[in-house]
Amino acid sequence: MKVYSAGGPKGPVGPNAMTFAGLRQLKGGRALLGLVQVCREMRPSLVKIDGLVDQFRNAPDIRVRYASLLLLDHLLANHSHLKQAPALAPVRSALQKVAEKREKMRYDLLTAMLPKTDLHVHLDGSVRLSTVLDLANRGSISLKQVLADAKSNPAKAAVLKSVPQLKSEPTLEQLSALSQIRGVQPDFLKMLFLGFDFALAVLQTREGLQRAAFELMEDSYREGVMYLSAIIAPCLHQTGTLTYDEIVDATVSGLEEGKKRFGLGWELSLAIYRGVYTKMFPQHPINTMMCAERWSRRFPNQIGIDVVGAEFETPLSAYANVYHRLRQTPVILRAHAGEMPGQAFNITTAASLGIKRVGHGIHLGELSAEEQRRIIDYGMLFEVSPVSNLKCLCVSQDPELNRLGNHQLAGLLDWATLCTDDRTVMMTNNVTQLQQLEADLKLVLFGEGGVSLVPMKLFHNSLRGIGDQLAARQLRAEGQFILQGINGLMELLRDQG
Ligand SMILES: [Zn+2]
Repeated sequence: MKVYSAGGPKGPVGPNAMTFAGLRQLKGGRALLGLVQVCREMRPSLVKIDGLVDQFRNAPDIRVRYASLLLLDHLLANHSHLKQAPALAPVRSALQKVAEKREKMRYDLLTAMLPKTDLHVHLDGSVRLSTVLDLANRGSISLKQVLADAKSNPAKAAVLKSVPQLKSEPTLEQLSALSQIRGVQPDFLKMLFLGFDFALAVLQTREGLQRAAFELMEDSYREGVMYLSAIIAPCLHQTGTLTYDEIVDATVSGLEEGKKRFGLGWELSLAIYRGVYTKMFPQHPINTMMCAERWSRRFPNQIGIDVVGAEFETPLSAYANVYHRLRQTPVILRAHAGEMPGQAFNITTAASLGIKRVGHGIHLGELSAEEQRRIIDYGMLFEVSPVSNLKCLCVSQDPELNRLGNHQLAGLLDWATLCTDDRTVMMTNNVTQLQQLEADLKLVLFGEGGVSLVPMKLFHNSLRGIGDQLAARQLRAEGQFILQGINGLMELLRDQG
C-alpha cells in the first residue's frame, strides 16, 4: 500500500516524483496541474489527506484553492471513513454546507477556474456597492443628495421623475434597488444614470479611485481573470481637486497593487465621452488624449484611449484627430463602435482609423458581406458583453427579440472576447455571464472529456488584443496548463472509487 504524506519531518514521502513540498514551489497553472497529477497518483490508496488540507486550502493561487476545495469535497463524499479525520475538523462544517449544493458548487468553481481575460470593464460601473457606502460614509458624501441632484439635472429629470427622493442615506438594499439593472427592464435608464452617479460621487478622491481599482482586480481574480483592461473617463472625476494625472496615478496604483497581490496583468484606457459631455467639457478629448500619451511612456502598451457613450449622439469620425495623433505612440487604440443598433458604420470608421479593438461591435451584421469580410481580415477584436448588451436593449430594439438567446456573439465567436462592461450596474461577473451564455445561447463550457472548445476559443481570441504581446504569450502558455489541470481535475471528480 502506498502511503502518502505531505513530506518533511512528518513522515515518508510517496513514490511520486512530485511531492506536495515540491508542489509548493510551483505557481499558477503549473501548480494546479501538479496538484492534479499528484492526486491522480495517490488515488488508488488514499490514506492521508491532511497534507492536502493543510497545504492547499490556503494556497496562494486561487485555482489551486478551488481545486483543493473540490477534491476535499469529493473525498468526503466518496470516502466515508475520512469524514472523521481530525485534520478536517476546521473545515468540516464549511464542507458539509457546500456539500449540500455539490453540483452547483462544482459548476461555479470549475467555471471560475477557466482561463479568462476581461478586456473591457468600466471602473465606475464596477465599484462594489458596499464600497460606495463605505467611501460615502468616510468622506461625508450624501448619496441622498446625489439622487436629489440627479433628479434636478435637466438631462436626467424626465427619466428619474418617478424615483422618489430618499428620506435618509440609503441602505445597501436601497442602493441596489436604485442602481442595479435586474433582468431586462424598460426603465433601465434610471438605474444606469444612478448607478454611475453614486459611484462617481465617491470616485473623486485618490483613496476612492485606488481602492475601487484594487477591488476590481481582486473581484476579477476570484473569477479566474488573468488580465484585465479597465476604463476610466478622467473628465468625470474632476468635481474634487484631482488633476487628470492624479486621477490616472491613483487608479494605476490600485491596479499595480492588485497585480502585486494577485498576479493579474492590467491595462487602463482613458475614455473620451461622446455627445453631451463633449459639449460640457469641450477640452476633454484633447486633454484625455495628451494624458494617455504621457502615461503610455511610463507604461507602454498598457495605456489605451477609448471613445465611449451613446453612439447615436456623435459618430466616431468626430474624434479622428485623436486617433491620428496617437497612431505612432504605444497607446492602445480602442473605441465603442457598433454597440447600438444602426451604428455599425462606426466599426468601419474604427478600422479606417487604425483601431483594432472595438467595444461590442455586435451589429457588424448590418454592414455588407464584403465590408464585414474586410473588417474581419483587418484583424478586429470584438469586446463583447452580452449581459450588458441585453440590459441596455442593444441586442435588438424589438423587446420580443432582445433576448440572450438571440445575442450576436454566436456569429462572432472567432473574433470576440467576453467582457463584463459594468459589473455592478449590470449585475454580472465573469462567472455568471459565462453560465448564462451556456444556458441561453447553448455555449457549452464543459463536455464529457473536460473543458469544451468555446471558452478556450474566447480566451485565445482575447490574447491577440492585449497590448503587451509578451504578457499575451505568457498567458497562452499559462492557459494550457490550466486547461490540462481542469481536465485532470474533472477526471478525478468523476472517479467514485
Ligand atoms: Zn463599455
